[in-house]
Amino acid sequence: METIQHDKSLKDYNTFGIDVTAKLFTSISTVDELRDIYRNYSTENKLILGGGSNVLLTKDFDGLVIKNEIRGISISEEDEDTVILKVGAGESWHQFVLYCIENEYAGVENLSLIPGSVGASPMQNIGAYGVEIKDVFHKLQALNVFTLDLHTYTKDACNFGYRESVFKKEFKNQYVICYVYYKLHKKAAVNTSYGAINERLRSQGIESPNIKDVSDAVIAIRSEKLPDPKVLGNAGSFFKNPVITRVLYDTLKEAYPAIPMYVIDATLVKVPAAWLIENAGWKGYDGGKYGVHTNQALVLVNKGGAKGAEIWDLSQRIVDDVNAKYGIALEREVNIY
Ligand code: FAD
Ligand code: NAP
Repeated sequence: METIQHDKSLKDYNTFGIDVTAKLFTSISTVDELRDIYRNYSTENKLILGGGSNVLLTKDFDGLVIKNEIRGISISEEDEDTVILKVGAGESWHQFVLYCIENEYAGVENLSLIPGSVGASPMQNIGAYGVEIKDVFHKLQALNVFTLDLHTYTKDACNFGYRESVFKKEFKNQYVICYVYYKLHKKAAVNTSYGAINERLRSQGIESPNIKDVSDAVIAIRSEKLPDPKVLGNAGSFFKNPVITRVLYDTLKEAYPAIPMYVIDATLVKVPAAWLIENAGWKGYDGGKYGVHTNQALVLVNKGGAKGAEIWDLSQRIVDDVNAKYGIALEREVNIY
């Protein structure tokens, strides 16, 4: 029988460091333990937590928090060019990336140093520096919380989009991801399409980078630019980059000639949310216990002792201001509870 704790502080279980409590708290390390929990606590609200690096907890959780600690990395299939790895949802994402680098499996090096768990990686199709997990995703196994059967979902069935998947939308609260299978390459070209990686490698005189070079460059850039949650509470980018029509972009460009964009297709462009927020004057905003990071306007921070609701209010003020200035509705990337 799994241990259940009562009135447990979640401060150490979310990277914002918000001090709320869970009425009940447990951790599971096997699928059978997870089934037991769902059978024995069928009437409680449930919240699955991995590393807590993509959540904002705005109040005490009146239910059962389940920390996923299903571990293990094993080879599921392999041929001359590729390997399919089966990975437990409770493994640390970054440790998994380092395992791949060590074994010379290419595909996840651009996703180095993203906090959190393997199990959460398909939730929002994590991405950075031009790579998303959909690029290496093979399939996953998830527990249906109603039938308690383990279902398999292929890439198509996950309906991955920009920081989205079927598990964050239609299937929200219906599945617990238990194992993720990734297809990695034994001989692959690296992706250095993002300028920052190129610049870093060039400054080091590396002309033909391997996956370790790319991973090291990403780790160095991220360490300089992003606040370490152990030092300053945060959940990474609080908002998604908005995708807008080219028509709206052209109008905005007249008023704001410096507004950057990246082409999505013939009619749509992506505008960095960080630019919109910074240009609206919010970068480095100091609200006392909380604020906007000084180096990266997309990152809201808990400087110590902030309440989740205060950070949510700040995010709403930013949404309203950006909407008023540019006519763009920012969407939150972080999951709010
Ligand atoms: P949690 O925060 O624990 O959970 C997130 C959501 O997924 C919750 O709704 C939770 O209920 C659900 N969930 C978690 N595990 C499971 C499971 N096994 N089954 C079902 N539901 C589950 N994200 C990016 O995409 N790219 C980045 O570059 C990036 N950089 C970041 C940098 C910093 C400094 C920080 C703090 C965050 C960053 N993030 C980034 C956000 C975050 O790290 C990722 O979204 C990560 O995948 C979240 O993992 P987690 O285990 O912490 O999820
Ligand atoms: P950056 O390099 O300063 O770039 C700003 C924005 O422009 C990014 O959001 C990125 O979009 C976009 N961009 C830059 N170069 C691009 C290119 N060649 N093609 C298409 N889009 C491009 O960004 P940053 O804040 O330092 O972050 C670097 C990477 O890490 C980004 O990919 C970002 O998404 C990721 N990251 C994510 C989180 C999170 O919590 N989700 C936190 C930190 C960093 P995209 O975001 O769409 O890539």
